[in-house]
Amino acid sequence: MNKRFEAIRSSLRNTEFFFIGVLVFVILSISMLLMIYIPSVARIVSEGAEAEISSATLANSYTADTYFRNKMSFLEAAASEFRKIDTADTEKVLETLRSIHANSQFRHIGFTGTDGVTVSSTGSVENTSNRQFIQAGLAGNATVSPHVTCDFDNTYCDMYTVPVYNDSGKLIGALTGDDEQFEFTEIMLLGIAGDKSCYFIFDSMGDVIYCSPGNSAGIGHADNLLAAIDDEVVSKDIGFLLNSLNRSAVKRVSINGVEYIASFMGVLNDEWTFAAIVPAETGYSSFTGLVVFTGFLIAILSLLLIAALIVVAVRIRAVKHDVSDFVGESEQLLYTDSLTGGETIALFREKYAAAMADTASEHALISLDVDRFKAVNDVFGFEGGNKIIRVISDIIARSIGRDDFFARSSGDLFYICAEFGDKRELCELAERIMSDVEYQITEVHLSLSIGIYMIDDKHIRSRVAADRADMARETAKNSKDSSYAFFDSSMLERIRREKRIEDIMEDSLALGEFRVYLQPKYSLGSQNEVVGAEALVRWNHDGRLIPPGDFIPLFERNGFVTKIDYYMFEEVCKLQKKYASLGFTPKIISVNMSRLHIHKPGFVDELAAMCDKYGVETKYIEIEITESAAFENMETLREIFRQIKSKGFHVSIDDFGSGYSSLNMLKDMPVDVLKIDRSFLTEKADENEDASIIISCVVMLASHLDIHTICEGIETQVQADLLTKLGCEMAQGFFFARPMPVPDYEKLTYGLGEGK
Ligand code: C2E
Ligand code: MG
Ligand code: MG
Repeated sequence: MNKRFEAIRSSLRNTEFFFIGVLVFVILSISMLLMIYIPSVARIVSEGAEAEISSATLANSYTADTYFRNKMSFLEAAASEFRKIDTADTEKVLETLRSIHANSQFRHIGFTGTDGVTVSSTGSVENTSNRQFIQAGLAGNATVSPHVTCDFDNTYCDMYTVPVYNDSGKLIGALTGDDEQFEFTEIMLLGIAGDKSCYFIFDSMGDVIYCSPGNSAGIGHADNLLAAIDDEVVSKDIGFLLNSLNRSAVKRVSINGVEYIASFMGVLNDEWTFAAIVPAETGYSSFTGLVVFTGFLIAILSLLLIAALIVVAVRIRAVKHDVSDFVGESEQLLYTDSLTGGETIALFREKYAAAMADTASEHALISLDVDRFKAVNDVFGFEGGNKIIRVISDIIARSIGRDDFFARSSGDLFYICAEFGDKRELCELAERIMSDVEYQITEVHLSLSIGIYMIDDKHIRSRVAADRADMARETAKNSKDSSYAFFDSSMLERIRREKRIEDIMEDSLALGEFRVYLQPKYSLGSQNEVVGAEALVRWNHDGRLIPPGDFIPLFERNGFVTKIDYYMFEEVCKLQKKYASLGFTPKIISVNMSRLHIHKPGFVDELAAMCDKYGVETKYIEIEITESAAFENMETLREIFRQIKSKGFHVSIDDFGSGYSSLNMLKDMPVDVLKIDRSFLTEKADENEDASIIISCVVMLASHLDIHTICEGIETQVQADLLTKLGCEMAQGFFFARPMPVPDYEKLTYGLGEGK
């Protein structure tokens, strides 16, 4: 039924699910991205580290290679000096050695003859034939011998040996130069930071020839490294290793539980091998830092994002509660009538739509309001009026059937949707409500108007159905016979006709189609003469004379009646002026004034001004105001009567006794004439004792209050006689004269036009 609210609620629920979904999705996405990102960054970083170490190894091996080669090249060049001298001449050899030494970076230079005797640049002569590097040189090999003791000063040194040939290419000895031990720290151009990094140079046997001072990694002999690289490589054949590693290889190894990156490069025509060993973590520590930093950043961002999402989720939850409360309250407001606590018209419409879907049952839409409810409000105040509306609401709630429903639309207007089997049930429902209202509301006599539309087409929208019930209700309101009426299509015709009237009424007034008819009033008793007249409007349209009953009620509703009243009043002024100017004493003509004037400020002044305009004395005009005006505020009415009288007009209460006015209202009410309603009279008036008693009482009371009486609607001699007998002073009715055109009245009253 309340689909809109259900839709809002479910949309709120969905928003929550959607949000939780988004949250889960975001968290999963971030986790997956991290899972992909971190390993790939680590891989990139690791490859970067390996490449870095590899290029460092290349550069350093090249540096070492150049270092050794330069020394060897110097010695090889120096060896050619001995071709020209007699090597048996020790003095000559010494001189040559000293000259070479002066230009070299070697600590000592020595020449060893084929006999194994070495002459040194220091001047010493020793037999060194037992030294391996001497034997290698004399065997024709150029060698670098690291870590050997120097024969000249007994310190450790690196010994460089080259063979010496004479011009004919015959080996004549070996030239040696000793140098301080090779120092990695001095030559390394490109290093990789870290105490745990170290450099080795292996000889072809796998023995460590040179080792960087930071050999703290506990690698020791190359065997450890070789074994770490490959379990199967247990031989000391570093060439095999290099071949297996593809010469310039980078290998990850684990030594004593520490992971290293090892890089290899051949030196001195691959006779030796240069190896750089760097702990893996040192190798890419900067990259690891980057990874850690990036991971940290992502983690922080993720946490912030998740925190933001949680905050938003909490906020959404709070808003959801607020909205939910709001929806609940709106629903309450929308569906509960604050005045009666019953259902509102919005809910009624929704229920109506659902009821129309049920094609099996017959439904009627009933429109119900209180007659002249405004007067009830005026008399009892708003709170009093509201109380009455609540009582009516309760009565309806008790009267309708289980599947029926109703709502207050506005003010005192209610709609009921009732199921029925028989038209009679609807009549009974209307009568039950009316009688309960009459029975329960005792403070004031209330009458209801009820319109019933038996829904003949289930597709008709609630508004249209309500309009039809309203038309029936209006008909009931205007009917004197019944307080409820059923809609029939002729009402639609009436509405159309009224619309047509409204379209032309202004023009008709301007064209003078509204005419004054006058119905003479007679004195009762012996004279029976015309004492005045009542002005009654007629609408002469399209050659037809339309009686006021056909348009005055409509004009009362749309307010146009006030214009008609002024028009009639002005016409009457003109007539009275005419009669006065003809020398007659004008007989009083009464003009009907709608109760709509009562609330118009300046209304009485306008009437007086009109009389002034035509120079008519106000005492020749009587203002008729219907008894029903008493439903307006009595104080206002009294004040208006007082004003009318103060201007010199006569005042009469029209249709007295037709409604619910009490005799009490006459008290303090400055009126001149009481027009007793014709409803008191029956055809056989003399036989109706009750009516006679009431009329005689009214007449007596009026004469007591100095108020004149006239009876309307006298149609028979019997009625005229009865009224005369009851003391009524004047009479008006078809028995004496019908409402007539002005010329007829003038002829009757003043004898005008008789001569024509
Ligand atoms: P009302 O003011 O009570 O006027 C008397 C009505 O009773 C007139 O009806 C008149 O023709 C009718 N009548 C007079 N004698 C008899 C009779 O013996 N038997 C019957 N059955 N009826 C009689 P009318 O002219 O049709 O006017 C109806 C009502 O329309 C008037 O009732 C009055 O309330 C209203 N009305 C007429 N002209 C005006 C007007 O200019 N302004 C306003 N505001 N209302 C007017
Ligand atoms: Mg009247
Ligand atoms: Mg009347």
